[in-house]
Amino acid sequence: MALRRILKFPDPVLRQPTVAVGDVSAHKDLAKLVADMTDTMYASNGAGLAAIQVGDTRRLFIVDASIAGGAENDPPRVFIDPEISYLSPETEQTEEGCLSFPGIYLDVKRSLKATIKATGLDGKRFELSAEGLFARALQHENDHLTGKLLVDFAGPLKRQMIKRKMEKLNRAELEGDDLDDAATAD
Ligand SMILES: [Zn+2]
Repeated sequence: MALRRILKFPDPVLRQPTVAVGDVSAHKDLAKLVADMTDTMYASNGAGLAAIQVGDTRRLFIVDASIAGGAENDPPRVFIDPEISYLSPETEQTEEGCLSFPGIYLDVKRSLKATIKATGLDGKRFELSAEGLFARALQHENDHLTGKLLVDFAGPLKRQMIKRKMEKLNRAELEGDDLDDAATAD
């Protein structure tokens, strides 16, 4: 089990452009990346995670199996080079969180249904249609691959509040790290 550090807003890497994977077999480290992302996501009780959130710019994300129509103990569903081909005009507004914004929840309006094409870890292209929470997760994770973040759905006042809260959290985390470093240096 290998955990990767989840980048927190406003880390500029979260806004970086992502790169298409293309031929899955040409990326020997992809299975390892997905395994690490899986461990990292579950260690933080997440339901989805994009590679860019652990600092890898390749276009892929994972979604927890129980949300993605699988059994609870199935591995997460992997979406490589995803393209959303349909978004329903019917929308739903629900509170949404993000592992790059710990403790922050925001009402976000999303399409109720979505159709997505993507490549699996086996290199095969597939298409599926999703509804509700699964459709929401697909839209949220796909946003990460275009640099769009939860904070972008907030109004200007709320946006300032989130920024301040995250900067405070990041400072606290940094100071915690310094303490750890001092302890191991001794
Ligand atoms: Zn997210």
